[in-house]
Amino acid sequence: MEWFLQDWNALETWLAQTLITPLLQLLHLSQLSDDPREIAGYFLLSSVQILLIAGVLRPLESLLPVEPWADRSATRIDRLYTLLKLLLVVPVVNYLILTPLFHEPNGVPSIAPLQLEHWLPALQTHPVWLFLIYFALYDFILYLVHRLQHALPWWWGLHSLHHSQRQLSCWSNDRDHYLDDLFEVLILGAVSALIGIAPTDYALIILCGQLIENFSHANVRIYFGPILDKILVDPKYHRLHHMRADPTRPGLHNCNFALIFPIWDILFGTALYQEPLHPCGVDDPAIDADNTRGLIGQQIAGLRRFVAGFRRSASSTT
Ligand SMILES: [Zn+2]
Ligand SMILES: [Zn+2]
Repeated sequence: MEWFLQDWNALETWLAQTLITPLLQLLHLSQLSDDPREIAGYFLLSSVQILLIAGVLRPLESLLPVEPWADRSATRIDRLYTLLKLLLVVPVVNYLILTPLFHEPNGVPSIAPLQLEHWLPALQTHPVWLFLIYFALYDFILYLVHRLQHALPWWWGLHSLHHSQRQLSCWSNDRDHYLDDLFEVLILGAVSALIGIAPTDYALIILCGQLIENFSHANVRIYFGPILDKILVDPKYHRLHHMRADPTRPGLHNCNFALIFPIWDILFGTALYQEPLHPCGVDDPAIDADNTRGLIGQQIAGLRRFVAGFRRSASSTT
C-alpha cells in the first residue's frame, strides 16, 4: 500500500509541475489552488474512472449484454457527456464555485454546525464508520433530490434528458442537463459543508458513488442476488428505474430512485424487485426527440422544458 501511495504522490507532483501549474499561470488562475497537486490528484482520479469505464465496463457490455445492440451509435453522446463532465465541467465548478463558497482557503469546511464528530465524539476514533455514515447521508440526500427531480415539473424538464436515452450504457450516468447538475452539486455541497465532511472524504465518496452509478447504468447482465441487491444498487435495479412507462400499468416506472443504497426505496415504499426488465426511455415524444439532438440541442430543449414546467407550476398555484 505504501509503495502505491508513494507512486501516486510522485505522479501527482509530476502532473502538477509539468501541466497544471503552467496551465494555471497561462490562464491567470494560479490563485485557485495553494497546492496544484490537489487539481492534479483530481485529474488522476478522473482518469482512473474513465479507464475503468472504458477498460472494464465497456468490454463487459460486449460479453454479457442485457440488450444486444447491433449499432451502439446512440451511446456516443453519453460518452461525450462523461468526458466533458469529468475533465472540464466538474473541475471548473469545484474550483470556481464550490470551494470558494463552502470552504476556507485551507480546505476546511467553512460552516459545519452539524459536524458529526462534534455530536458523536466516539466516531473520531472510528474513521471507517464515520466515512460510511457520511456516505449513507450523502446518498439519502441524493435520494430526496432524485424524488424531487421526478415530482416537480420544472425539475423533471431537466432530469428527463437523463431518461430520454434508450440505449442505457456504462457512459449514461453523466448524461444530464448542466442546470440539473448545478442544482444537485449546490445542495450536496451545502449539506456536506453543514455536516463537516472533510474534502478528502468527500472526494472519495464522490468517486465511490460515481463508480457504482457507472456500473448500475451499464448494459450488463451482472446482478447481485436476493440479499446483496437489497444492500447495493445493481444494473437491474437501476435499469428498472429507467423503464419506459407502460400505459397498461401506469406508475410502475416510479420506482428505484436510490442511487447507491436501496434501503431508502425499501423504507419509503418505492423499491421494485420482482419485475422483468422493460425497454428504457420515455413515453413522451417531445422528450424522446432528445435522441435526434446533439449535446447543445439537448441542453436547449431541456432548458425550454424547465421554463415550461416552471410556468405550469406557477400558474397552477395562482
Ligand atoms: Zn431518475
Ligand atoms: Zn440513471
